[in-house]
Amino acid sequence: MKHTKPLTNEKNTMRLQYQLATGNWVDCGARTEEFLALCEEFSKQDREGVLSDLAAGKKVRNDRSDWYSVCRDGEYYDARLAAHDQARANTPMRKCSCGHTIAENLVMSASMGTSCPDCYDRMSD
Ligand SMILES: [Zn+2]
Repeated sequence: MKHTKPLTNEKNTMRLQYQLATGNWVDCGARTEEFLALCEEFSKQDREGVLSDLAAGKKVRNDRSDWYSVCRDGEYYDARLAAHDQARANTPMRKCSCGHTIAENLVMSASMGTSCPDCYDRMSD
């Protein structure tokens, strides 16, 4: 029985993207197979190796010429971005003497008490 390995990583379906010279990423979409073949050729790996690199968040070269000639798994990066936002949302907040509530790691110590960066000058008199 012929078995075709699905394009999946641990949690998501893989969404292959390639990078433009502008640094922006574009979904490979219908050209996914074409780009995967290029990834195999220029990373000198088999399909298995390319997919496991992509699933691990590595960028895989799809051409030898330019710095931006790489592919990545868009789902992986979207998930990482979401995790980053989540981490930011969980940052402990603190109310400063200036009256503003900001992330705890941004609190500054001024002569008139704790301060946010914006009020530091006013709070330092
Ligand atoms: Zn303030």
